[in-house]
This record gives sequence, structure tokens and C-alpha cells, in this order.
Amino acid sequence: MIIRTTAACAVLAAIAISASFAQAQSADARRRAAVRKFTDLVSRHPMADVSQGMVAMTVRDHLVLDFVDGDNRLARMNQAAAVGYFDRPGCGLCPVLSISVPYLLDRRAGDDAIMLVLWHEYQHIVAIEEGRRPPTLHMPLRIGEPVSAALVELLVEEELQVYEAEYRLAAFLGWQPNDAYFHAYHDHGRAAMACMLIEEYVTLPLYKGHDATLAKVVERFVNEEP
Ligand SMILES: [Zn+2]
Repeated sequence: MIIRTTAACAVLAAIAISASFAQAQSADARRRAAVRKFTDLVSRHPMADVSQGMVAMTVRDHLVLDFVDGDNRLARMNQAAAVGYFDRPGCGLCPVLSISVPYLLDRRAGDDAIMLVLWHEYQHIVAIEEGRRPPTLHMPLRIGEPVSAALVELLVEEELQVYEAEYRLAAFLGWQPNDAYFHAYHDHGRAAMACMLIEEYVTLPLYKGHDATLAKVVERFVNEEP
């Protein structure tokens, strides 16, 4: 009985080991495919800021690229990419661009859409590198951590500006990404885009209880000169 159980356990353990080995191998293959896709899209990006600037930042080790797969913050927030600033030895606060491997490998995501996401994230980096925003704005926030009204204001204001930069580029290039916010911007203007984004933000746990601040930011954005 004991022998049979041990043998069965050994077989089960062997199956578990080979399954996790196969998973690790496939995770590695997925990551390699995602890196290839990313490299190809960056090299063909219509904006030199990305095709040259982003590459230059990576080469001089100022920008870290983080290809994320599996259960992680991006997946939980259904995001394609995000920029964060992290304290790195010898560098100080430096940007980390996290990119979703499932998003890069999703055949439904067109090259245009991914290139726009890269442009979007690059705008966040540039805003900080040019001193228009404090890097602490992009320090990682833990999900559920309360945020101040002042931080909400900065985050949302920057997000609206970056979305506008992204959709302005799409319109300029004649791209038609399959993105409801883009169509709101393209068909009805920046106020429609801003209102649509804010309608989504009020439902996010991060902005819970900040309806008045969100309304103030969108009103200011709509009334300012583009
Ligand atoms: Zn953004």
C-alpha cells in the first residue's frame, strides 16, 4: 500500500515537473515572440521619438523594458502597457516600461494600435524627463491604496493630455484604431473623448470617492486651449 502510494506520488510528481517545465518553456517562447514583435514595431515606428529616442534610452540603460505575462498588475487592470518610475542603484528614479505579453501576441491588436500605445507611454516618459511632471507621479501604486485628490488631479490631467497626443497622431497618420475613445475624439472632438474617459474613471477603484476632482479636471481640460 505504502509502495503503491509512493509510486503513484512519484508518477504524479514527475508529471507535475514535466508540466511546469513545459509551462516555463512556453512562457519563454511567448516572451521571445513578444520581444521580437516589440522590436519590430519600435524599429518601424513612424515617430523618431520612439524609433530612435526610446531605443537610445534603452541602450544607455536609462529605460528598462519589462515584458510581463501571467497574473500581474497590467492583466488585473486590463492594460496593454504602463510606465512606472523606480529607484534604481546608480540611476535614481528611472522609468520602467511594462508591456503586456498577451497584448503584444494578440492577433486582434493591429500593429497601428500597438504603435499608438507605445507613443502614448512614451509621452508619459517625456513629460517626466522634461520636468513637466514629478517622477513620483509614476511611482507604483498598490491596488486599493488610497490616493489624494491632488494626485488624482495630476494623474488624470496627464492621462487626458497623453490620450489627446495619441489620437492626434492617429488622426494625422490616417489610422483608424478600433478604440471607442479614438472614435469619440475623431468624430466629436476632445471634449467627447474626455467625458468618455472620465465616465470610465469614476468606475475604477483607484478613483473611488474622487468624482468631484474628476469633474473639475475634465472641465478644465475641455475649457483649455488644445
Ligand atoms: Zn496613460
